[in-house]
Amino acid sequence: MRELKTSIQEVTARQIFDSRGNPTVEAEVILADGTRGTGTAPSGASTGKYEAHELRDNDNQYGGKGVYKAVGNIRTIISEGLRGQNAADLYQVDSVMRELDGTAEKKKLGANAILAVSCACARAAALSARMPLYRFLGGISACTLPLPMMNILNGGAHADNALDVQEFMLVPIGAPTFKECMRMCTEIYHSLAKLLRAEGLSTAVGDEGGFAPQLTTDAETLELIMAAGLKAGYEPRKHFALAMDAAASEWKSGETGKYTLPKSKKEYTSAELIAHWEELAARYPLISLEDGLDEEDFDGWKMLTERLGDKIQLVGDDLFVTNVKRLKDGIKGGYANAILIKPNQIGTVSEALEAIKTAKRAGYNAIVSHRSGETEDSFIADLAVAANCGQIKTGAPCRSERVAKYNRLLRIEGQLGGGAEFMGTDYFLTARGGKAE
Ligand code: PGA
Ligand code: ZN
Repeated sequence: MRELKTSIQEVTARQIFDSRGNPTVEAEVILADGTRGTGTAPSGASTGKYEAHELRDNDNQYGGKGVYKAVGNIRTIISEGLRGQNAADLYQVDSVMRELDGTAEKKKLGANAILAVSCACARAAALSARMPLYRFLGGISACTLPLPMMNILNGGAHADNALDVQEFMLVPIGAPTFKECMRMCTEIYHSLAKLLRAEGLSTAVGDEGGFAPQLTTDAETLELIMAAGLKAGYEPRKHFALAMDAAASEWKSGETGKYTLPKSKKEYTSAELIAHWEELAARYPLISLEDGLDEEDFDGWKMLTERLGDKIQLVGDDLFVTNVKRLKDGIKGGYANAILIKPNQIGTVSEALEAIKTAKRAGYNAIVSHRSGETEDSFIADLAVAANCGQIKTGAPCRSERVAKYNRLLRIEGQLGGGAEFMGTDYFLTARGGKAE
């Protein structure tokens, strides 16, 4: 039998560094026709308890964060196991790696090793076929540019300020194209910098490029972003809306429903926290709330969804960890109405695509997302377009590991020309059955 052009000859790997200066994995796949494709693994700070396993060396180098074990696994077990497999058949490649690993959490080889290879295979196969990555991953129907949720003000585990909520995001709901989303968000970002300076607050940025000033309450932070928007000439509710990621699993309630915020030391029961979110949603143009409750507070999630689920997008990040099984349980239980898609939470591209498919079938929104520790790899930009997700979360328009994804989306929009689709909040709200006010 003649060997396929996209048959895998070898997989190699190296340790590179992420945007926080921590080691991470880069895999490189070499195909029979000589094409090489690379893939990298990002890394979170507020990681969910149920995420796939990130394999670290835990020795005396790099604060224990080295990834030489993961790199070694790619060069030996994975390279041997994948030799002769067709890189273009990504579902098969991923399933071979899952078998080589043999554990549910990808503990043996490391989800960081497996994901980097999965991405590298996709990229090599796309290059070999002379196709853009989004076209290879999504086929001829891939054409939707995502509405960004831009994290312009950082708190929680991503900044050393006094804010317990991790992310305050800008959603350019009034923009007609992705390019215009970028215009509005960058203008408001710079307007926010000016306002912060005028108030004597710091314009230093957090891990995802958003400012990290010494603010303390959610309300004053949202007010400030609204003021920045107005100053830039945009109207809240008409041109832009707000979104938050509380990352409340960091507030460690577990199943008890008792929350202690690590910075302010404020205490809430689930019901009190839900009342707090309801109040913010009533006062501000908040259209999306991520991880408003702990990853194990299922009764709380049910209550939150009953109370706010027909008004705003409720996103499960640590709650679902891009895991089809956890998502299905959530759909059955009535938790949230959207899922955050982080490929490294589950460890393969095909499983991330399956999570998106499962979400869409249930009328849940899916938002492709970066991690707080990123590389310059713009894979997720192509993934968002490929899956016609309609939304992406990839930080502020600042720090090149974030901007790389936005720039890639601008290039894709240019390439697609008249074929580019951008549904903005129409898409966003379809599943909600509502309209932005
Ligand atoms: P992480 O944060 O990458 O640090 O987990 C991103 C998020 O919580 O959405
Ligand atoms: Zn999150």
